[in-house]
Amino acid sequence: MARLVMKFGGTSVADIDRIRNAAHHVKREVDAGHEVAVVVSAMSGVTDQLVGWCNAALKKRQLFDAREYGAVIATGEQVTAGLLAITLQDMDVNARSWFGWQLPILTSNVHASARILDINGAELIRRFTECKEVAVIAGFQGLHHETGRLTTLGRGGSDTSAVAVAAAIRADRCDIYTDVDGVYTSDPRVVPRARRLDKIAFEEMLELASLGAKVLQVRSVELGMVHNVRIFVRSSFDRPEDIDPHGIPPGTLICDEEEIMEQQVVTGIAFSRDEAQISVREVADKPGVAAAIFVPLADANINVDMIVQNVSSDGKTTDLTFTVPAADYQRALDVLAKAKSAVGYKRLDGATDVAKVSVIGIGMRSHAGVAAEAFRALAERAVNIRAITTSEIKFSLLIDAAFTELAVRTLHSLYGLDHATS
Ligand code: ADP
Ligand code: ASP
Ligand code: MG
Repeated sequence: MARLVMKFGGTSVADIDRIRNAAHHVKREVDAGHEVAVVVSAMSGVTDQLVGWCNAALKKRQLFDAREYGAVIATGEQVTAGLLAITLQDMDVNARSWFGWQLPILTSNVHASARILDINGAELIRRFTECKEVAVIAGFQGLHHETGRLTTLGRGGSDTSAVAVAAAIRADRCDIYTDVDGVYTSDPRVVPRARRLDKIAFEEMLELASLGAKVLQVRSVELGMVHNVRIFVRSSFDRPEDIDPHGIPPGTLICDEEEIMEQQVVTGIAFSRDEAQISVREVADKPGVAAAIFVPLADANINVDMIVQNVSSDGKTTDLTFTVPAADYQRALDVLAKAKSAVGYKRLDGATDVAKVSVIGIGMRSHAGVAAEAFRALAERAVNIRAITTSEIKFSLLIDAAFTELAVRTLHSLYGLDHATS
């Protein structure tokens, strides 16, 4: 007997048929004698619709209240949790739904991107043992204890709910059921020749997720790493009756680096189109200028990512270029416009039609020249690189958005990640 968390994402619970399919997967594990807690997302498209309603209701943007926004968007998961519990009962499986405040899943007070602080797993474990009850938990939501308000964990947050529940109930495994059968060397929707990885190290998955691969929310990988949760990404589209409960199904295990026998130099390529570039032109080349630019942006909670400063040709002025999330682009320009006299720049240039392509692999720690190969391959395809950042196990390139697919596929082939054609 094992104790499992099974998480079903939006497409895996998109309608009543798919919910019934998810219920069959749950029943399969229950019949095999396992203790099961399920975590569900909202039905596909529902969260977007709820966000749209909030935006339509509020004309005065300055009155935005994240607590009420959370109250609306958390409802998607509540519907799915109830529907899955009903479906399981309909299949004679003992099941009960749980919302974030009922367990409770306690979080910080940062509405719309709250962090899980603690989950009480004792009641779930008692019910596993005493009445063989399956817990169906609404993902994405929690409770801020001091104010008693509901919170949400940020888009894609049900992954994090699942891993946190797995840590709280000391589950043997956290299965993430989604619309792909594992983590691939790149997004299979964009790179048809992407390969499924049997295993990927936590650190690499963390980079892949934070650099744009939305298959897992970043925070879920962090939690898995800290609490040593075995996360297994697999498909909900496999027919439940075809799965051997004692065999190893197709999927990807996120695990410690030591568990991976054959480490490649490059493991995966991620990309993100949610970037914007800002260039601050003709600022004085002297101490204090970077602080005058970046401190007000940090105060406005705007994350600055890639930063490039040109060497001044005249010893007096230079240009400073950096990226911010596309969603914060306008706000960043406003902040910089206010700081104009303190910074003393001539003008601001910006672009939103940019993309960040990142190459990730633990093997880069011990291999030199990996990035240089990319520069050459992209130059041969006339892809211009606007900015570069590197760290121990990854490098990122900022390019024109129009070249994203070409660049990702080029690098995927360059590093030998393409699957063999049949
Ligand atoms: P869910 O609704 O189940 O949470 P998501 O849409 O959040 O699913 O995540 C799954 C999607 O992530 C896939 O459909 C795929 O297009 C995308 N994706 C991006 N990068 C990768 C990758 N490297 N491996 C697998 N899927 C990826
Ligand atoms: N429903 C939420 C979203 O769409 C959370 C999730 O699916 O993980 O972002
Ligand atoms: Mg997701």
